[in-house]
Amino acid sequence: MRTSQVLIPTLREDPGEAEVVSHRLMLRAGMIRKVAAGIYTYLPLGLRVLKKIENIIREEMNRAGAQEILMPILSPAELWRETGRWEFYGKELLRCQDRHERDFCFGPTHEEVITDLFRREVNSYRQLPMNCYQIQTKFRDEIRPRFGLMRGREFIMKDAYSFDRDEESARVSYQKMYEAYERIFTRCGLNFRPVEADNGMIGGTMSHEFMVLAETGEETILYEEEGTYAANVERAEVLPPASPSTENPLPLETKHTPEMKTVLDVCQFLQVTPAKLVKTLLYQTREGEIVAVLVRGDHEGNDIKISRLLNTAAVTLADAETVTKATSAPVGFAGPVGLKGVKIVADHAIRAMKNFIVGGNAQDTHLLNANWDRDFTVDTFADLRQAQAGDPSPRSQAPLVAAKGIEVGHVFLLGTKYSQAMDATFLDDQGKDTLAIMGCYGIGVSRTAAASIEQGHDAKGMIWPVQIAPFHVHLLPVTNSEMVQETTKSLYHSFTDAGIEVLWDDRDERAGVKFNDADLIGAPYHVTIGDKGLKNGTIEIKHRRTGEVVKIEPSRVLAYMNEQLAQFQLPRV
Ligand code: ATP
Ligand code: MG
Repeated sequence: MRTSQVLIPTLREDPGEAEVVSHRLMLRAGMIRKVAAGIYTYLPLGLRVLKKIENIIREEMNRAGAQEILMPILSPAELWRETGRWEFYGKELLRCQDRHERDFCFGPTHEEVITDLFRREVNSYRQLPMNCYQIQTKFRDEIRPRFGLMRGREFIMKDAYSFDRDEESARVSYQKMYEAYERIFTRCGLNFRPVEADNGMIGGTMSHEFMVLAETGEETILYEEEGTYAANVERAEVLPPASPSTENPLPLETKHTPEMKTVLDVCQFLQVTPAKLVKTLLYQTREGEIVAVLVRGDHEGNDIKISRLLNTAAVTLADAETVTKATSAPVGFAGPVGLKGVKIVADHAIRAMKNFIVGGNAQDTHLLNANWDRDFTVDTFADLRQAQAGDPSPRSQAPLVAAKGIEVGHVFLLGTKYSQAMDATFLDDQGKDTLAIMGCYGIGVSRTAAASIEQGHDAKGMIWPVQIAPFHVHLLPVTNSEMVQETTKSLYHSFTDAGIEVLWDDRDERAGVKFNDADLIGAPYHVTIGDKGLKNGTIEIKHRRTGEVVKIEPSRVLAYMNEQLAQFQLPRV
């Protein structure tokens, strides 16, 4: 393609609104433009990258035996009411009405629609296993759309759904998708890691997220440096402490702690470490119950673990008014001793503690030497805190290491959650009605493009992996001389005929401008044609990633590029 004939509105200056590098560079390179918060138009360069990612996904999904379909973006409320998610999904589900005042929503995911298709169209175990996927625009009315394509409201997702006759076969389907995802992200040229994950809003029994490793990732993962365990921090299991404290219990003591509301305040005032404190966090369940959760002063509560223990969809920290009502003290002084009418649950680290400090349920008051077996009653001890770097791995006990990641894919074993709610059955080999065992598998296509930039860029611009680059070669004639123009044209045609994707910068611009734009756009190979080089019988090829420059005779350039690209399994655009 010629630059003069494609819309590539590059920007010299950094756009102010962009907080992360992928957003900033995609705007600067003219790949995307914002239409509304979290809603973008993909311009030609951006769309080419998306199409390549889509095609890698398509090839690997087909190879894994999945079949492509396309479901509608709008779906009727009745389907969502059947599973309870019309209410449960909350405000992320964008709803609308048609002219007959019938309720619809913009699909954030498609379990309901596919399960409805399954129950209508599939009758027999002979038709199983079945796995259908689509690549489609999703809408989630995210509370904080941000970071460009990383967290949009409208975004492109590949979603697949598997149906199996039993659990064992469902695990095979899951494993196939897991392996397809490994191939997909490897083929996209990304440095990634699959991690154990929570099932969240989708539900089910087992799940893994595929994380692209990048400093700017919103997710934290914990992993064994040598071993195989890796998990999202939300999910990572914390082992109970090995040995309890051997201290003798001391008498409970009331201490005046004026204005000491935070762990740090109290520790400084009393000259103790945070591990000597127990925080009392008052949570409210979806159903409105108030529960006190105890975690050690240097630990953080994990909302997902807490919700799971309390058997509720979600918990939130109670507001100041609720805290005051439950504890008769302002926020910062809640404690378990004498707390009435509130269930107390505790992280299992507390079980090993003696003589700890807690809030006194009165203004400016803390209690010293509290002991859980003497001073208050814990309903349940459980793993309720966020794991941290340095915690022993639940698998090998080796210390876990932390890294930042971007979630680009997520696979779930769903079990019968949706088939049961929607009565999606088939006839088994005994002629008996049986619920299908489902799995679902998502990839954020547009987020994957952004994640690649977060992982691959430098001060000058993007550095695309060859496999998903908008073009393989950026052709850069630096003068208007006939010799340069003729050589460029002939190279352009020979590349194009050989299936090599070229962007030919045919603008009448200074060499410096062209080089800057080429570095910004980040095609893997920059082929520079200048008078001086040609007089010496050479053309320069720069590798964008390494900066390495090779000088090659014009007649050998095509062979060189073919050799380079032959190393990769490239998708078509
Ligand atoms: P997140 O935790 O980042 O909000 P999620 O866990 O809700 O994502 P899934 O339901 O697992 O997302 O969706 C499948 C995939 O879709 C995700 O792995 C991610 O790559 C992508 N995705 C989800 N939400 C967005 C979004 N707002 N913008 C872009 N991609 C998204
Ligand atoms: Mg997810």
